[in-house]
Amino acid sequence: MFKSFKGLPDLPYAVAPMQQAKYQGSILELAQALIRKPSVTPNDSGCSELVAEKLKDAGFSVEYFNKNGVTNLWAKHCKIDVGKTATAKPANDQPLVVFSGHTDVVPPGQNAKWETEPFVPTIKGDMIYGRGASDMKGSLAAMVVATEHFVKQYPQHKGSIGFMLTSDEEGEAIDGTQHIIRTLQSRGETVDYAIVGEPTTEKQLGDSIRIGRRGSINGKILIQGKQGHVGYPEHLSNPIHHSSKLIHKLATKRWDMPSRYFPSTGFQLVKVHSESGAMNVTPATLEMVFNFRYSPRNSFEKIKSYVEKKAKKYGLEASFEWEHEASPYLTKRGKLRKTVQKVIQQETQLKTRLTTAGGISDGRYIKQLAKQVIELGPCNKTIHQANECVSINELNQLCHVYLRVLEELLIRK
Ligand SMILES: [Zn+2]
Repeated sequence: MFKSFKGLPDLPYAVAPMQQAKYQGSILELAQALIRKPSVTPNDSGCSELVAEKLKDAGFSVEYFNKNGVTNLWAKHCKIDVGKTATAKPANDQPLVVFSGHTDVVPPGQNAKWETEPFVPTIKGDMIYGRGASDMKGSLAAMVVATEHFVKQYPQHKGSIGFMLTSDEEGEAIDGTQHIIRTLQSRGETVDYAIVGEPTTEKQLGDSIRIGRRGSINGKILIQGKQGHVGYPEHLSNPIHHSSKLIHKLATKRWDMPSRYFPSTGFQLVKVHSESGAMNVTPATLEMVFNFRYSPRNSFEKIKSYVEKKAKKYGLEASFEWEHEASPYLTKRGKLRKTVQKVIQQETQLKTRLTTAGGISDGRYIKQLAKQVIELGPCNKTIHQANECVSINELNQLCHVYLRVLEELLIRK
């Protein structure tokens, strides 16, 4: 049923084929158990507890930083000193490698479009179907099993391993990872390397990883006009006409030049609304809602100030609402990035593409605490869709890659 891994590990402590087979079954079992829990954001539905039990058995200390109905789990494992318990804190527990993920999923959407029950994990050939299979209960299972295997095989590994899970990633993302990061910061915890399990693969596991994400700004403009009879333009002020110049400017402007890992900043309108309710009356106001995805060459302040100045220049009587949804982040060349690239190459024979594409992720919060953050997970082709699915073989490969990354970072050679 399972294909064996290509590209045998070249290290003396590599996982033996017999042991590989042992963890393949565990990934499937855990992924299925997680999918069975209908954890529509911000509900955790017991997913964290399930993971916590496994981590406790593997010698982790587990804490919950729950807030406003959001479940946040923080678990840590340090090396076991001979004769001491697993939670005994050694003098030096750096580097700290953290696996980060979310237990919540988006709603199943239109049930009629699903060929299987969204919360009944169903295996067809090499695929598991179910909401969250690829985003991101599959990678969660792969991380946990890789870690269980690692701490069992290397109880005296250097440094420490952390798990950071939240049930508020797909929703508001206010009381989730942000809250965990603030709590850890207040304790003076520092993270060296963080691996986020978001689905980053396009076709074949490891073909693409995220080393950053663009920033995101949401904005709303309310333009005031003066309602009037269409036949008497001299007595009215039409906000639809007034807005057109500004829309054209924002939509066609070259905001900045693309850089190696980031495309140029872009503006998209997501709503324009203005009406009077009658064919012969012009409206009094116009509302437009928009989003910017921006590169580190730009900033929230620069973009906000430009839009407001242009509105003024075009004579618009306008009021603004702004939400700085996410700052961009980038993990520069360093040990984590290099290690992940090397392991992917060894395990899959692929030269991974380093990108910042896609939506925003919790990586932006983790980067505030972690020196280096990368995102690596399974194929993202069916995420947030009906019939979401993930390849079992891909999860096995992913588990093996996570395990090998841990070996590279936490085993002294
Ligand atoms: Zn996700």
